Amino acid sequence: MDISENIKKYKDELPENVRLVAISKTKPNEDLMEAYNAGQRILGENKIQEMTDKWETLPKDIEWHMVGHVQRNKVKYMAPFVSLIHAVDSLKLLKEINKRAKQNDRTINCLLQIKIAEEDSKFGIDSEEAKEILESEAYKKMENVKVIGLMGMATFTDDEEQVRSEFKHLKSVFDKFRDQHPELTELSMGMSGDYQIAVECGSTMVRIGSSIFGARKYN
Ligand SMILES: *Cc1c(COP(=O)(O)O)cnc(C)c1O
Repeated sequence: MDISENIKKYKDELPENVRLVAISKTKPNEDLMEAYNAGQRILGENKIQEMTDKWETLPKDIEWHMVGHVQRNKVKYMAPFVSLIHAVDSLKLLKEINKRAKQNDRTINCLLQIKIAEEDSKFGIDSEEAKEILESEAYKKMENVKVIGLMGMATFTDDEEQVRSEFKHLKSVFDKFRDQHPELTELSMGMSGDYQIAVECGSTMVRIGSSIFGARKYN
């Protein structure tokens, strides 16, 4: 894998209004630095411990995005530095993020994860639950957390029409929300296998890992 070539390819290819989140989970710091040296500043991880270790050693102008499922008891570790949490799925989690952000004297931006895939395994909430969170008194009182958009993951399938209809559904939920909540500006959808469809459907942020850094090995 030529990581810096891949970064340049995506930067050229993606429309100007679509941000690239380079998903560096499981990859060593040298690989992240190669992306950094090619100009990439937004990196995404799915484990808080791993992201925190990388944040401690790598340049401080990297924007760290947490894209994985978040356990409440680990929010405190990333609260000093995380720049966007993509997969918020409860008011309880937002409360914890707000509390830890306040302790660090910062505001943390979040996305609500909407479940759009068929599979049971994917996390997320439905649009009604998301609406309840956004319109709750509890959320309105939170001063150190800001929901700035939505995130979703399509079903893992070769059926492009299914993927397209799931992304279109998320885009329509997003548009409906924006009538009431113009502060929602980000729509995080699209990964290595389906980012082109996601961009066509209105994504503002794609999360691309393996086609930049190569296949992941888990042990
Ligand atoms: C790993 C991961 C990605 C990137 O997946 P690739 O298929 O390697 O591009 C995107 N989003 C989330 C939430 C992930 O966990």
